[in-house]
Amino acid sequence: MNSDLNKKFNRAIELRKLLNEASHAYYVLDAPSIEDSVYDQLYRELVNLENRYPELITADSPTQRVGDKLSSNFPKKTHRVPLQSLDNAFNFQEVSEWNARSLKILNQGESKEDILTSIELICELKIDGNAIALSYENGLLVRACSRGDGIQGEDITSNVKTINSIPLSLRMENPPKWIEIRGEAFIPHRTFEGINKKRRMALESEFANSRNACAGTLRQLDPQVVASRKLDFFAYTIHLPEELDEIKYNLAKPKTQIEALQYLKNIGFKINPYNQVFLGLKDLKEFLNEWEIKRHDLPYSTDGLVIKVNKFNLQKRLGFTQKAPRWAIALKHPAAEAPSKLLGLTFQVGRTGVVTPVAEFEPIMLAGTSVSRATLHNANRLLSLDLHSDDTIIIRKAGEIIPEVVRVLPGLRNQYAKCLSLPINCPICNSTLISENDEAATRCINTNCPAILQGALRHWVNKGAMNIEGLGSKLIEQLVEKKLINSIADLYELDINLLEKLDRMGAKSAKKIIQELEISKGKPWHKQLYGLGIPHIGERNAQTIAMQFTNSSILKDVACKSPEVIQEINGIGEEISDSLKTWFSSEANQKLIRDLKRVGLTLEATQEEKLKKDQISDNSTKLLFGKIFVLTGTLPSLSRSKAKELIENSGGSISSSISTNTSFLVAGEKAGSKLKKAKTLGIKIIDQNELLKLLT
Ligand code: NAD
Repeated sequence: MNSDLNKKFNRAIELRKLLNEASHAYYVLDAPSIEDSVYDQLYRELVNLENRYPELITADSPTQRVGDKLSSNFPKKTHRVPLQSLDNAFNFQEVSEWNARSLKILNQGESKEDILTSIELICELKIDGNAIALSYENGLLVRACSRGDGIQGEDITSNVKTINSIPLSLRMENPPKWIEIRGEAFIPHRTFEGINKKRRMALESEFANSRNACAGTLRQLDPQVVASRKLDFFAYTIHLPEELDEIKYNLAKPKTQIEALQYLKNIGFKINPYNQVFLGLKDLKEFLNEWEIKRHDLPYSTDGLVIKVNKFNLQKRLGFTQKAPRWAIALKHPAAEAPSKLLGLTFQVGRTGVVTPVAEFEPIMLAGTSVSRATLHNANRLLSLDLHSDDTIIIRKAGEIIPEVVRVLPGLRNQYAKCLSLPINCPICNSTLISENDEAATRCINTNCPAILQGALRHWVNKGAMNIEGLGSKLIEQLVEKKLINSIADLYELDINLLEKLDRMGAKSAKKIIQELEISKGKPWHKQLYGLGIPHIGERNAQTIAMQFTNSSILKDVACKSPEVIQEINGIGEEISDSLKTWFSSEANQKLIRDLKRVGLTLEATQEEKLKKDQISDNSTKLLFGKIFVLTGTLPSLSRSKAKELIENSGGSISSSISTNTSFLVAGEKAGSKLKKAKTLGIKIIDQNELLKLLT
């Protein structure tokens, strides 16, 4: 076997082992060990491997069976009609491909006039519960089985009989000899929370999600426990005898899935109301997008949408694969967690010299966007993840925005994989990196490190500081690499002729940048202070400090000689005063200040800033002096700007975020996360009327 095939062979063995273990935890123990989306992606990887190399398929592969081992606690029953799973699609493209495949099968060997150009499709919500097969004989529920391995299920009739939305007898006057119904048993959100709360109080482990809670409940040996858990049920499939006499039973046999749903409703079942029929894919896409958002408002969980060929005659022609019908596909909701293969680590050196490891991995789709890298923050995080080369890692989008590496799947690790750690030398300038004992950060302390200079320049020109348009990262990189500048101050002595000759530059852009730099010399003192990039001095702290100490010389004197004065300022603590002291004590930074002044920056409060300072000292005699207000939601009659003006006129100040320093949260209609946070922190919450009273 060549080495590539050998690698694939080993990967298939590892995947099989991991997926089988996960299935056991999921189906038998009702305690999943990995996220569903991670399972789905690894399963997909195994299917792809087996499709390419069929010799890798083994009888115990999870791809060869539906569901998992049957529990020995219940008698096993063979299903009258097998209960299959569904094939999955993870994006609309895959739904289109499924549709094209179906059209191809249906059109095979058809004459020109019978060629189909589109298929009537029905879209249903994919309820995140457990499939149940109900057998009715002469209108009475005689048996209810779990899906089991698709051929045989567990007889859980007594448990299922406790579900109120499942009729014990059908609403049919003259029912046929047998009817088979399939549908999804599920636990609504509210009930699920109640179940977990009870388990918490009884010091029992909580269920990971409502689907596992539902499976665990259906396998309870005591039907009374099942009854207390209040399961619900949506029916979606009906099987009727072939030879059904429609006249005798007074009900037309459904010919489409939409008719079947109506039929189910007529005979007493609860069906999910959110389904729609489409001719072709165009409008269907809109429905899918719509439900991607609307699903969050449902009182129960869905894990995707199921798209089915609507007409039964076409379903019959499409048939089944070993595991799933060809006439249906489940489009899973975009995953928030997914596995990927680690390609390597890169290391970023920031403006303060801090080295940040970044995981680079094979691109994956997460919550609708493609991601291929995630910061690992620092050496401690890297250590705790125990990352090895080529690891399979699980990525999550924290807060749906920033990707993070959640953990590693060591079960899929190659035995020769090397443990990854931070480098000993700076990846940019090669000087030895330093880790302070009490700090998680590892730093390059070479003040001439090009990465630090580039970071400092990027910070100086950023929006919150000098806001110099056109001076982006690529240009900064060129300026530093070509050694055209060695410090922030050098920006102000750039030769326009050299500048315009750089890549992607021209006379016009070079002129604009020089003009912007000239304008920036008059920027307020607090912006200049922020631009210096002193650790812990963000925009807000820079404003507060610049207001108290109106130029760099005063600030330097106070920071170095009487730091306690700085600590007395509201919201400024020891960490910040220490940082200022360290920064101003450095000879290199002193030189930077001298150079900046030489090239024309004032590093001093403007007239306007000084006036504002005077106003603030006047304010100290005012009613709301020292009080910090945060505004949220819509106030009945005051606009945000008016409320802000009134508060500031009374000496109060406005902050955009809630913290322990906040004095009042003024909450209006549709107040969101700030209200929640204020409640958690015990901040006083007032409405418009109470605010107006405070102002008088
Ligand atoms: P599935 O959940 O992906 O899809 C098939 C099921 O969808 C059907 O059997 C039916 O129960 C359900 N369904 C819901 N609404 C439906 C509707 N309107 N019409 C038709 N069917 C509908 O497949 P599965 O075989 O039940 O389970 C496999 C899934 O289980 C995997 O995709 C994975 O997410 C999860 N799983 C997770 C782990 C883990 O470790 N986390 C392990 C094994 C399986």
